Amino acid sequence: MNFKQFNLDPALAAAVERCGYQAPTPIQAQAIPHLLRGSDLLGLAQTGTGKTAAFVLPTLQRLLAGQQKAIRCLILTPTRELAEQIHENIGQMRGSTVLRSCTVYGGVSKHAQLKKLERGVDMVVACPGRLLDHINSGSIDLSRVEILILDEADQMFDKGFLPDIRRILKRVPARRQSMVFSATMPAEIRRLAENILTDPTTVQVDHEKPAATISHALFKVAQKRKTALLQAILQEKDMETTLVFTRTKYKAKNLARILQKAGFKATSLQGNLSQNQRKLAMDGFKSGKFNILVATDIAARGIDVTGISHVVNYDVPDTVEAYTHRTGRTGRAERNGQAFTFMTADDGRIIQIVERTLGCRMEHETVADFDCGSDLPAQPAARPTRRKGPSANAGKRRTNGQRQYKQKKSRRPRAASFDFGVASASNR
Ligand code: AMP
Repeated sequence: MNFKQFNLDPALAAAVERCGYQAPTPIQAQAIPHLLRGSDLLGLAQTGTGKTAAFVLPTLQRLLAGQQKAIRCLILTPTRELAEQIHENIGQMRGSTVLRSCTVYGGVSKHAQLKKLERGVDMVVACPGRLLDHINSGSIDLSRVEILILDEADQMFDKGFLPDIRRILKRVPARRQSMVFSATMPAEIRRLAENILTDPTTVQVDHEKPAATISHALFKVAQKRKTALLQAILQEKDMETTLVFTRTKYKAKNLARILQKAGFKATSLQGNLSQNQRKLAMDGFKSGKFNILVATDIAARGIDVTGISHVVNYDVPDTVEAYTHRTGRTGRAERNGQAFTFMTADDGRIIQIVERTLGCRMEHETVADFDCGSDLPAQPAARPTRRKGPSANAGKRRTNGQRQYKQKKSRRPRAASFDFGVASASNR
């Protein structure tokens, strides 16, 4: 399937092409045809599945067909970050069309929001609290809304926004197209969806799950203790060939240098390297000259490696897809692999989504006598998971609910074998 089948307006089709989207993601393939026909939709999908474009593209297409310069689409989100992300996505997807959107959320001045609203927008991406402020002061008119979208409805419920949402619903016309997206479907969200939606189509898309040959563990650690923790793990644990992921090129390079200075056989793979330097790094990892490769996501894309015993998420990935991609570098060809993720106080949400995808909690581990620092995450993940997966606890020894390392056996690094095509340019 490709985007041509949706018969999008040429300006939108061109924008999709500029974004580099080759084919619709499963949620887009399932949802867009229904939404273009004007159906209501209940989407069970998480961030990272391409759900934003799944609702933004058909919305833009439908808005292009009518009169402009009234608020005709309202998108409700639980957080300002998500509001900005959706607004940004609209900016990319609307291409050269005249359609405009703006964000409305608290914690920033109302004045700038008012100015944008006065100039006229077609779409508003809003958090409930500030939107109600604007409604109550008469600065926003929702009487011409034709499309209503609730994104991350389960998070809205967690944050206690349902009463606000009900108040907002009274201000939008009953005759409209509505969509509700949620990663999970607790009873309250189901009831809300039943209230909002009329004869909806339901589409459900799960994240691709990591392979069952991989065990997954979490280390709670303060940001500034991550490097020391990595060194402690590398010393304590029998890690033959390890791929370490960092968020930025700078960190990958720096961390590899620190590890080298500390006597580890480490190198880095990141977007600032020339093609030749990359090849040297990869060949060195392949031959066993280096048994630790510190990489960024984009630099590591396309590497097909067998024989990597461990993947360490020094920084948590941004999406579940990235988590699956990273950890999928180990546990290949029927071998067992271990994935370690360093979790700081800021990482609760993504860990929660990863655990939901895995279908179980990740085991928490510690290194004996290692101080992980203060400012640790209080709880691993707030939401109970539904079922126990096969891979999370396989073959592990527990000590008071946690696993600690045995003394390291001395062993020569196992050389990794490769078929790879290393990605070229990258920002990471
Ligand atoms: P979302 O689930 O909407 O947060 O999207 C996750 C990421 O997938 C975003 O970075 C999008 O730009 C990207 N994305 C969305 N649709 C596609 C597509 N059809 N092909 C490739 N990437 C996509």
